[in-house]
Amino acid sequence: MDVLIKDGIVVTMDKERRVLKNFSLAIEDGAIVEIAKDIKGEADFVIHARNKIVMPGLINTHTHAAMTLFRGSADDLPLMQWLQEEIWPVEAKLEPKHVYAGSLLACLEMLSSGITCFNDMYYYLEEVARSVAESGIRGVLSYPLLDIAGEEQGEKLLSEAEKGLRDYGNKDSRIKVFLGPHAPYTCSKELLLKAKELAEEYNTGIHIHVSETKEEVESFIKDKGMRPFEYLDAIGFLGDNVLAAHAVHVSREEIELMRKRSVKVAHNPVSNMKLAAGIAPVAEYAKAGITVSLGTDGAASNNTLDLFEEMKTCALLQKITTRDASALPAHEVLEFATINAARALGLDKEIGSLEVGKRGDVIIVDMQKPHLKPMSNPISHLVYAARGSDVSTVIVDGKVIMHEGSFRTLDVAEVCKFAEEEAFDLFEKAGKGDRLFRVEEVL
Ligand SMILES: [Zn+2]
Repeated sequence: MDVLIKDGIVVTMDKERRVLKNFSLAIEDGAIVEIAKDIKGEADFVIHARNKIVMPGLINTHTHAAMTLFRGSADDLPLMQWLQEEIWPVEAKLEPKHVYAGSLLACLEMLSSGITCFNDMYYYLEEVARSVAESGIRGVLSYPLLDIAGEEQGEKLLSEAEKGLRDYGNKDSRIKVFLGPHAPYTCSKELLLKAKELAEEYNTGIHIHVSETKEEVESFIKDKGMRPFEYLDAIGFLGDNVLAAHAVHVSREEIELMRKRSVKVAHNPVSNMKLAAGIAPVAEYAKAGITVSLGTDGAASNNTLDLFEEMKTCALLQKITTRDASALPAHEVLEFATINAARALGLDKEIGSLEVGKRGDVIIVDMQKPHLKPMSNPISHLVYAARGSDVSTVIVDGKVIMHEGSFRTLDVAEVCKFAEEEAFDLFEKAGKGDRLFRVEEVL
């Protein structure tokens, strides 16, 4: 076998949600081949995991990876002002190298906190794909589609998206390409339906922002006479391959529609709080049987890519909004970040739980920390007490990417330096060089 993890507390997230004490896990040719009390045989890489938690890698179902370059450049602003004055003018100057640098930094950050797969939407998809390939993470990538500037814009982006589908369809097993119509208010009906058609043709999913802010929903109703999910259903867009990011402001009827059409949700609690967008009713979604997963959104509105933080925030937020401390217990939130997230991306046969036959996407959490003692309930600790920095080992597709804090695919210092240089370059080109803090000016 290639990798043998010995004597860990294995949080499987399998159908019975088994937590196995002092169990071992073996990986061969990228897949989990055995989970047992005692595994015999030689392995190229042996990891001793006594008193450590061995669990499926976390899955971030909504982000814009390259936006790590925007981290901290524009905080404490309402969504539209933030987008129109701070984000879009800088994005207008984006070059492929910026997207590559920002995505590489995001992959490094995500991997180091136990995220083994992410669902992205951003320009220059080939640069995001390059950072996925080099870092060793798993990625579901989509090229944003919109046609607010006219039909020509939609056609151009659509052909880029189709190129992505063709180029990465079978090229790298760790890369999957989705269609990414940006949002119902930035896409025409024709563009939405073309995206749906392409998703069906390539047997893939659709990643779309829906109902993030109240203002957006109100102006949509004024424009179309319907709420966003009602409209998407009326035009025949909704289906079980649609992953809706945010879904913060919805009516009771829309929840029923989402359930009926098996729409999946990517909930981004920290970003929704930071931009004062609102609180998505995810406890209600879960109760209705809708698949809910968790996303960080981009680093411009978070400002980190850490799903441990997201899990805790998600649970606390539902308790406060429902005024019920029993709302959304820890085990359900852990499902959001693992098996539900895999289902949301159509990858639940491959990842999301530790089971024989699934891909070897495994992380190990070091429990020898003051804030994780005493070991009472491993699930509670993962959701309420652990931090991304407690992750000590990360394995993706059977390959050890990080072990005992040291990276085997990327040079941490080099990636950080490269991303910083490209961020300065980008902001300077956008005439906003003053947004970044130059260390050498202080020296
Ligand atoms: Zn987003």
